[in-house]
Amino acid sequence: MDVNEFRRRGHEAVERIAKYYEDLAAQGTSNASVSLPVLSTVEPGYLRQLIPSEAPEEPEKWDDIQADIESKIMPGITHWQHPSFFSFFSANSSFPGILGEMYSAMFNVIGFNWQTSPACTELETIVCDWVGKAIGLDESFLSSGKGGGIIQGSASEAIVVAIIAARQRMHDAKIAEGFSPEEAHALTAKFIAYGSTQTHSATKKGCMIANVQFRALEVDPTDFGLRGETVESAIKEDLAKGLIPIYVTATIGTTSSGATDDIPGITAACAPYNVWVNIDAAWAGSACICPEYQSVLAGTQNADSFSFNMHKWLLTNFDCSPMWVRNKTYLTNALSVTPVYLRNAMSDSGIVQDYRDWQLPLGRRFRALKAWFVIRSYGLTGLRSHIRKHIAQCRQFTDFLERDERFLIVTGPNWSLVTFQVVAPVGLDVSTNELTKKVYNAINKEGSIMVTHTVLGGKDVIRFVPGSPLTEEAHIVAAFDVVKKVTEQIIAGL
Ligand code: PLP
Repeated sequence: MDVNEFRRRGHEAVERIAKYYEDLAAQGTSNASVSLPVLSTVEPGYLRQLIPSEAPEEPEKWDDIQADIESKIMPGITHWQHPSFFSFFSANSSFPGILGEMYSAMFNVIGFNWQTSPACTELETIVCDWVGKAIGLDESFLSSGKGGGIIQGSASEAIVVAIIAARQRMHDAKIAEGFSPEEAHALTAKFIAYGSTQTHSATKKGCMIANVQFRALEVDPTDFGLRGETVESAIKEDLAKGLIPIYVTATIGTTSSGATDDIPGITAACAPYNVWVNIDAAWAGSACICPEYQSVLAGTQNADSFSFNMHKWLLTNFDCSPMWVRNKTYLTNALSVTPVYLRNAMSDSGIVQDYRDWQLPLGRRFRALKAWFVIRSYGLTGLRSHIRKHIAQCRQFTDFLERDERFLIVTGPNWSLVTFQVVAPVGLDVSTNELTKKVYNAINKEGSIMVTHTVLGGKDVIRFVPGSPLTEEAHIVAAFDVVKKVTEQIIAGL
C-alpha cells in the first residue's frame, strides 16, 4: 500500500468507523438500518471455516481485506460500545480516544526511555499529574515529589508491578536488618500477599507471576468490604507462623458488587509491618473525577500505590491504566536493569525519567496522547457529566427494580453497578438462585441487552452496569422491559 492508497483507504476507514458508531447509537430505535446484537451469536470455531488455514503467499487486494471486516469479523464481535451493553465493566471508547490511537500509530514510537521520544515520556508524566489532581489523589503521588505516575497497559500489570516492588522492598529491608543476600533471597519463599475473597483475580495471578503466596481474606458480609482488623489479624497470624507479609490489594469498587475496602483501617494495619498497600480502583477510580465521590479516597494518602483504568469508564480507548506511586525508588529498585546498549547520557544524568524502569516490558506505547486528547476534548466538566449520567441511569434502573416485588436488590447501587435476584414465587419448585440463573441466561440469549452474573454471599445475582457513552434513558427503560419480559417467560415455563 503506497501513501496515496493509504490516504484513500484511511478516509474510507474513518467513514466506516463513523458509520459503526451511528449504527450503534440507532440500536433499539426506528432509525436502525442494521441490527447489531450486543452479544455475538457465532459458534466456537466459526472463523476457521471462513479463513484459509495458511497465510497468503502473495499480496492481497485491500478491497478484499476490507470486505472481510464485514463478512468475517463483524459477526464475531460482541459490541462493547453498544448502548445496551450492561456487562462486566464498560470499556469506553470516544472519538478523541480513537484519534489518539491513530496518532500513536502514526509515530509508532517505542518510548522505553526519555531519549527514544521525549514527548512520549514527558506527556505521560504531565497527564498522570493532571489526572491524579483531577481525581483528588494526595499530592505525594504527583511528580513534584518523590512519587509520580506512569500509564500501564492494564490494572493487572499495575498489580504485578506493585507486588514485585513490595517484594523488593521487603528483600532490601531484610538486607538492611543484617541478612546476607543469600539469606534475604531464601526469605522470599516466606513472603505472603493478601487480598479479599472479593479482590479481582488479577492479584492472585500477580502473586503467581511473582512467586509470592496469596491469601484471600474474608470480607464483611454486610457490605463485602475488607476490614482493617481482618488484615491486622492475618498479618499477626502469618508472622506467628514464620511467614513475612509484604503486600495487600485494597479495592475501591470491587468487580462483583462495587464494594470499597476499609482503606484507612488497612493502611493503618499495614504501616507497622512495612506491608505495601496497593489501591486497585480499576473501575470506580473514574468516578473520583466527580468531587462528590472523592471521599472514598480517605486513607489512600497512606497507601504505596494507586491505579485505575481510564479505559474502563473515562472515555479513553483501551489500553490506559494510570498508576501512581508515592516513592518511585521502590519501582526502579525492583525493575531497573541497564545493559550497555540501553545506556545514554540523558539517562545517566538522572534528570530524566525512563519509564522502562517502572514497568514489566521494555517497549511501551505512546498511551498518553489519547488520554490527553480525551481530557482536553471533554474537559473535566464533560468527564464528570459522563460519569454522573451513568450513575443516574443505574439509579433509575434500581428504582424500577425496587418498585417490582419480583426482584430483590442485593447490593448497590454502588456508582453505576446494582446487583439483584429474581425472587422465586411461592409454590413453584425453584430456588431464587436457580431462577436468577435461568433469567440471566435467558436475558443474554434474547440478545437485545447484555448483562453478567456473579455470586455474592452464596446468592446468585445479576449485575447491571450502564457505562456506554451511547446509553440513553430509553435504553434503560427498554432494558428493564427485557428483564421483566424474560422473567415472565421463564416463570410461565416452570
Ligand atoms: N481490578 C478490578 C477491580 C477490575 O474490575 C478489573 C477488571 O474488570 C481488573 C482489576 C483487571 O483489569 P485489567 O483488565 O485492566 O487488567
